[in-house]
Amino acid sequence: VSGRSGIEVVAIGDELLLGDTIDTNGAWLGQRLAGMGLRVMRRSVVGDDEKAIRSAVEAALARVPVVICSGGLGPTPDDRTRAAVAGLYGWPLEVDESWLAVIRERFTRRGMVMPLINRVQAEVPRGATLVRNEVGTAPGLILDSDKIGLAALLPGVPSEFRWLMEHGVIEHITRRSPPSAGRVQKRVLRVTGIAESALAERIADVESSLAPLTLAYLPTGTSIDLRLTCWGDLPEAEAGAALDTAEQKLAERLGPLAWGRGDDDLATLLGEALRARGLRIAVAESCTGGLVAKRLTDAAGASDYMLAGVITYSNESKQTLLGVDPALFEAHGAVSEAVAGAMLEGVRVRTGATCAISVTGVAGPGGGTAEKPVGTVWIGAAAGERTRVSLYRLFGTRAEIRARACQAALKQLFDLLRET
Ligand code: ATP
Ligand code: MG
Repeated sequence: VSGRSGIEVVAIGDELLLGDTIDTNGAWLGQRLAGMGLRVMRRSVVGDDEKAIRSAVEAALARVPVVICSGGLGPTPDDRTRAAVAGLYGWPLEVDESWLAVIRERFTRRGMVMPLINRVQAEVPRGATLVRNEVGTAPGLILDSDKIGLAALLPGVPSEFRWLMEHGVIEHITRRSPPSAGRVQKRVLRVTGIAESALAERIADVESSLAPLTLAYLPTGTSIDLRLTCWGDLPEAEAGAALDTAEQKLAERLGPLAWGRGDDDLATLLGEALRARGLRIAVAESCTGGLVAKRLTDAAGASDYMLAGVITYSNESKQTLLGVDPALFEAHGAVSEAVAGAMLEGVRVRTGATCAISVTGVAGPGGGTAEKPVGTVWIGAAAGERTRVSLYRLFGTRAEIRARACQAALKQLFDLLRET
């Protein structure tokens, strides 16, 4: 047992293997423990099968001193974790009379008689520690032996799993597997307007000088998040300084492509920039169907800067509501620089807004041509005297193209404001 470190997680349940349930307990645990300097080294998933559970826990305990099991502690015959792990330790199951009384009393309080099958939820392997569950009937069970290691058994219901971790189980774990030098720390830089491979090329030399920090590329659909991680092998203050330096180097290299940090939202940042400058915005949208206005108004207090939004999906409405010259449709088509520009001016003139965004494009899946394939989007942005109309060639499904066009539109105005 000595010399090994780290934690493994075994998630138990046929529903996890079938894909009906996603292992959110494992995800939550990874984040929760990383935040305190404990590394989850591996996660495995097994079905409601006693042999499979036992061998997964046994294999994990051969690698690490602590294994956390989620699920299979219910009262029904498909719940086999208790018996499987007790068998591995060679500890017989015995009814804990005081916990049985707690379960019985909970049923009584609701005017019910405890069904006999709930008795198994009071079964505890002899020598194990019971962690009281105040939000459910299955207690947490800690089996700890010098020879084998520590196994913590928790119910799969996410609210109970988390409650028990916070109320006793984490304490047991940290006693057995003390946290490393520092907690795992992360920084995220949000990037929009460049493909992942081009991004990798652009920052290649910065990336190669980051060790011991690691860099991950996480595409979100509308941005690529660059995540810097310090895995806890540096003291806390050193880690913070190393992350600051690395983040700064990346931000300098990327310029306006990197528009935010952490969980920043571009529409929120744009709204704050507009508010700070006392500017008001109007939006004219075609293929995004109101998404830009929706995102701009998601933030509370958006009325400080949001004046109006108009969805002009047809040529006719672009003409009647925005005053777009019909000759432009014939000469250039609705998806064109000329029409995006005319929509931009039109919505400004008709609302009196100082800032504006216009979007016109082919979201697909039909309607593309050789000249204007699906994903062709013209976007206009205006801030005072400054206007810019740009062409984007986006890819993806209809929903992805619309979301990306929306993000590109917000970004275009955000950049225009930052340049002034
Ligand atoms: P209980 O003692 O409350 O019956 P249990 O230990 O028997 O709990 P399960 O029967 O395995 O737990 O699962 C109960 C519920 O929790 C199910 O709805 C299941 O989808 C969900 N669940 C199980 N495992 C996980 C997991 N790893 N992540 C998220 N949800 C889970
Ligand atoms: Mg189950």
